[in-house]
Amino acid sequence: MARLIDAGPGCPTPTPLRGKSAAEARGLAYDDAVKAETDALYPLVADFVTPMEWPAIAPLVAAINKLKRAKNAVILAHNYMTPDIFSLVGDFRGDSLQLAREAAATDADIIVQAGVHFMAETSKILAPEKTVLIPDTRAGCSLAASITGADVRLIKQKFPNYPIVTYVNCTADVKAECHITCTSSNAAQVVEHVAKEWNSDTVILVPDQYLAKNVAAQTGIRILTWPGACEVHEQFSAEDVKQLREAHPGVIVLAHPECPPDVLQEADFAGSTSALSTYVAEKQPSKVVLLTECSMSDNVAAENPAVNFIRPCNLCPHMKRITLENIYDCLVSGKHEVTIPEEVRVRAKAALDAMLALPKMARPLSFKTGQVPLELEMVI
Ligand code: SF4
Repeated sequence: MARLIDAGPGCPTPTPLRGKSAAEARGLAYDDAVKAETDALYPLVADFVTPMEWPAIAPLVAAINKLKRAKNAVILAHNYMTPDIFSLVGDFRGDSLQLAREAAATDADIIVQAGVHFMAETSKILAPEKTVLIPDTRAGCSLAASITGADVRLIKQKFPNYPIVTYVNCTADVKAECHITCTSSNAAQVVEHVAKEWNSDTVILVPDQYLAKNVAAQTGIRILTWPGACEVHEQFSAEDVKQLREAHPGVIVLAHPECPPDVLQEADFAGSTSALSTYVAEKQPSKVVLLTECSMSDNVAAENPAVNFIRPCNLCPHMKRITLENIYDCLVSGKHEVTIPEEVRVRAKAALDAMLALPKMARPLSFKTGQVPLELEMVI
């Protein structure tokens, strides 16, 4: 069950308060120049960083922004980054699809992926001529770890006549073996497209069993799937939603489609992180809860000060490995560069290109809520 938190920032920005700060340990001081450069940025994170903590953070922010200019680098900041990274040093912000498009389009020499490893791989696949850095190589993902390229080759042997769609939350090896990728913004569009293109009544969608079940409920297409799950979203339950509604009458419940289907059944609205952000920005509900990663609520809350956010806090331990400190370190040292064998990259790019060639949607697709959960057949 999710840990329910009533109010206040869901996910504190980690800052040492005793001893040397991370900035001081790197020889970065909060001097007049840094103060002048960063004072205007503080209001962006004032709900999450106290005035006492700011002198420990501001020198890192100033140094990172200076290094980016000097090295022609950009930082791609996923919605699940803590607000200090998301608002203060991120050049492009969004979900994995938005960041992948930015990676392909940027003319920067260096991309620092403030996200997890599969996202950095996606950037490298789309922008092979650029140096792609991940600040901490341990920033993994339970979905990406659940399946390998060898697994997909076995699936293809077993089901040679069905198209295989992979959620982008997987390694380059897995993308290389699949026919097309999808994101939570366009999964239903991709599944309907390949079913038509292959003239198939059945589509294989890996590795997220919950996304697959939620897509099956939208499309009516027979989907076979894989027993992977996001360790953050699978913790939410229908019981959590009922408890939230009892504790906060009138609250609007928004859920990410990596949540189990019974959560979407109870929610008011469901969609990708982009769809959830757009919903809040457009509807301005008086009281809302986002059933997704903790920092997402913090970042959407910062952009919608009139909305009261109830925060069930499920942190992604992998996303939280990325910090201002290790972003600074990787910009200084050039560590850790993401590389992919060219033969794998080219095939993985074909799967991404197949998705990116689909008509761009005016807005991310939302998922129907209130649907009866479906059980799906597994490919293993
Ligand atoms: S939130 Fe879930 S899907 Fe996203 S990186 Fe973390 S474990 Fe993976």
